[in-house]
Amino acid sequence: MPHYISTRDKNNRTLSHNAIISGLANDGGLYTPDHIEPFIDADLILHKSYWEIALAILRNFLDDYSEEDLLACIKGAYDNKFDDPSIVPVKKLDGCHLLELWHGPTSAFKDLALTILPHLLLKAKEMEDDHDTIAILTATSGDTGKAALSGFADVKGTAITVFYPQIGVSAVQKQQMITTTGDNVAVIAVNGNFDDCQRMVKEASNDKDLLNGIEGVSISSANSINAGRLIPQVVYYCSAYAKLIEDGTIHYGEPVNFAVPTGNFGNILAGWLAKKAGLPIGKLICASNRNNVLADFLKTGTYNANREFYKTMSPSMDILVSSNLERMLCIASGYDTELINTLMHDLNTTGQFTIPKDLLSTIQKDFIGYWCDEETCAKTIHDTFQIDHTVIDPHTAVGLASLQQYQKETGDAAPSVVLSTASPYKFSRSVYNAITGKDIEDEYEAMHALSSLSNTSIPVNLSSLQEKEVRFTEVINKEDGIARIKKRLEEIAHEKD
Ligand SMILES: *Cc1c(COP(=O)(O)O)cnc(C)c1O
Repeated sequence: MPHYISTRDKNNRTLSHNAIISGLANDGGLYTPDHIEPFIDADLILHKSYWEIALAILRNFLDDYSEEDLLACIKGAYDNKFDDPSIVPVKKLDGCHLLELWHGPTSAFKDLALTILPHLLLKAKEMEDDHDTIAILTATSGDTGKAALSGFADVKGTAITVFYPQIGVSAVQKQQMITTTGDNVAVIAVNGNFDDCQRMVKEASNDKDLLNGIEGVSISSANSINAGRLIPQVVYYCSAYAKLIEDGTIHYGEPVNFAVPTGNFGNILAGWLAKKAGLPIGKLICASNRNNVLADFLKTGTYNANREFYKTMSPSMDILVSSNLERMLCIASGYDTELINTLMHDLNTTGQFTIPKDLLSTIQKDFIGYWCDEETCAKTIHDTFQIDHTVIDPHTAVGLASLQQYQKETGDAAPSVVLSTASPYKFSRSVYNAITGKDIEDEYEAMHALSSLSNTSIPVNLSSLQEKEVRFTEVINKEDGIARIKKRLEEIAHEKD
């Protein structure tokens, strides 16, 4: 039975449902499974529905929940909110496969975790007989915000607040968030970047005095620092692997490489957990955009966030401090939480840390980092349309370009899957421009132009956006974040009375 331990203190242990209620551990660490037994095999994943694979994975990682409860959560999440019956279809391209993770309600891969997290959280509260209103604090680089809002809107016993960088999210991402409906939601722009938003949320979660004088409210997070985000993401790696067997590409046991467009290291970490749990994954290719701090780290062992922050056409990966890396380092070091404390202290005080050489060799067995610039990203979108008649979004293009670079450099010809993390229609202007060389400034015009060009349809949640009423216009300075959160918590407590 896995317990969840804090990456900063291995004696800080709890069960998964408590970890999900807490979000961040109270020592600032991230709750992480304390051991991972290999349990995935052919029987578990072959010729199974998404629900069946999800149940098999979740009951292993979240084994303090009853099987009946888990199944209810799974059915509540993965239903006709997804516009493809297989939930995560796989598409064959010339030379690799695409795992399409954007068929959910907000057209980004975050939906796979954020449609189920509210269900897991409500069950957890039931198990604890916890009647607090859970204040979900969420920082977003663009896609988490809307997916979390969509998941938590009007969910009883919760209230959600999303902080997004005022400049940095795409026009469509912003419109998705500020038109959100629901009585328990708030959306606030921050004068700063994603790292500033994430720091605010982490600070608030760690601030023991913040809830002084506020009754009946506790704080949690919908960011990938919450263990309840991480575990459901293990499922689609298994689903993709099974599909490659079912379409005759591989036999069970053959290694498959996965290329993952990476920001906060949550998605790729789930792939690594799948590998540790027995899924025959070869290399995990960690793909970054011009904010290439992870690619450098995986090569040198030095994580250095002291560098210029670039805004790119893949904004959900414009991140310099990747939270979930801490979880990977904790597991890979054999749960050396003292080491993790030192590294995170170094990061907080100097903006960088360096891991021991043997730890670097250990992680290099599983991970390899690549990055691509804006020009290569655009060219990859263009070429994929020409060669495969497939439209991909800029994040997916970063993943594909990184895979191609990896294959060229290493000659590794193992079958490979690129995680396709967003619908191209979320980034229509950039995508249309990459394919045609023409710039259509208006995102919605670009959406329609892209649809005509590619003969594919615009997801309904995006085509209807333009007409929606704007509900949230507040902008704050990043220095005022904690004060604003305090005020929001008071409002939530007040509404509860
Ligand atoms: C969030 C996001 C990513 C990065 O995922 P992480 O889990 O943060 O590494 C990549 N692509 C898209 C479209 C995203 O929304």
